Amino acid sequence: MEKKHLIWNRNAECISREDLEALQIHKLRATVSRMYENVPMYRERMQSARVKPEDIKDLSDLKRLPFIDKPDLRDHYPYGLFSSPMKDIVRIHGSSGTTGRPVLAGYTNKDLKLWCEMMARTLTAVGATQDDVVQIAYGYGLFTGGLGAHQGATEIGATVVPMSAGNTQRQIMMMRDLQATLLCCTPSYALYLGETMAEMGLTPDQIPLRRAALGAEPWSEEMRVRIEQLLGVDAIDIYGLTEIWGPGVAFECLEKHGMHINEDQVIAEIVDPDTLEPLPMGSKGELVLSSVGKEGMPLLRYRTHDICTLTDEPCPCGRSFVRMNRITGRSDDMLVIRGVNVFPSQVESVLVNIPGVTPHYLLVVDRVDSSDTLEIRVEVTEEMFSDMIGSMQALGRQIGEKMKSTLGISAKIVLVEPKSLPRSEGKSKHVQDNRKI
Ligand code: ADP
Ligand code: ZN
Repeated sequence: MEKKHLIWNRNAECISREDLEALQIHKLRATVSRMYENVPMYRERMQSARVKPEDIKDLSDLKRLPFIDKPDLRDHYPYGLFSSPMKDIVRIHGSSGTTGRPVLAGYTNKDLKLWCEMMARTLTAVGATQDDVVQIAYGYGLFTGGLGAHQGATEIGATVVPMSAGNTQRQIMMMRDLQATLLCCTPSYALYLGETMAEMGLTPDQIPLRRAALGAEPWSEEMRVRIEQLLGVDAIDIYGLTEIWGPGVAFECLEKHGMHINEDQVIAEIVDPDTLEPLPMGSKGELVLSSVGKEGMPLLRYRTHDICTLTDEPCPCGRSFVRMNRITGRSDDMLVIRGVNVFPSQVESVLVNIPGVTPHYLLVVDRVDSSDTLEIRVEVTEEMFSDMIGSMQALGRQIGEKMKSTLGISAKIVLVEPKSLPRSEGKSKHVQDNRKI
């Protein structure tokens, strides 16, 4: 397919680096003051770090600011990190957190407009115009994917088909009947759709899709090639996280070599995940983001725990924003299973409260028919093991229900004999990820 680079907001996206830095420092300073004044936790953190808002004069002063991490959001659940009064908050989104409490973000009206623009830029980079019919198969709800893509596509003036996730046969029917040209969903769901179409005997030229904007979970170049073949599209990587904005933080253009970060709204750093020292451009490390354009819940130096590299090499599309390459891993133990964030500590927190089981467990993650599966192997106690089969089955059901409500996804529960799971000498290994992504 030809590469015709469309740009939504040339003034912003092709800004000179000099002007961008001036804009970033201006917004950074305003956000530091906003958080210092309105968020008690942040004021205390800055005081402990012995830094005052007026000390932040230059972008290089960013490194003097304290980091914010996921547990901070959990500890101040639900509204503790909001920088705007509730009367100005018009939307809440969230994703699963570490202990069953969701990680929440609040948006003001102005925030929603900015986010909308970020997603309009994203979908335009993917090639979307008002002539497109955009089928959105990201979930709608607290998850940022559905509504995020919806607002951006509406802003462009495209025709939006808000399907939400699931119901694959119906998705395919609608896609054909409505002549959808752009698909928005997770890469694993795109693959599943493609495989289902192939099973139905549909070839890529029988479906009108031309592009797919895919994100919310890690995927590989091999997976891109498969999806492109199966659906006959350009498959484009998009990145975001609830805490910062949601989708639209970064997006690939049709060059498909790294995702441009919306740097007028988000300042990106790469740090060493152990020492937390900032690393030079091009180094591999943890991505740290500051959402400086935001009112409702801006965050400064938020640790994404996503491992990647940045590049400032010019891109043929003309955008001046730096690019981040694919996420190659995490600096914590978070897993993304069917687009849902899962931490082994959540599993542990469920198990410690159930009599008859031990805290020895193993999460086995796999990908079957393009869909992620989660099996949780749990060691039962000696007493339980010598008990009747009947109580074991009831125990399995009880664990399954609790896991579903804590993790937000269902898992197959396998109860195993005491002392049968592998023991390790150092840090115990709780995850076996068999997915090849
Ligand atoms: P969302 O799933 O809407 O992006 P969440 O807050 O639920 O937001 O999850 C964010 C996490 O999902 C990111 O920190 C990252 O680990 C993962 N993620 C999102 N987009 C991508 C992507 N394109 N590639 C790899 N991982 C991604
Ligand atoms: Zn580009």
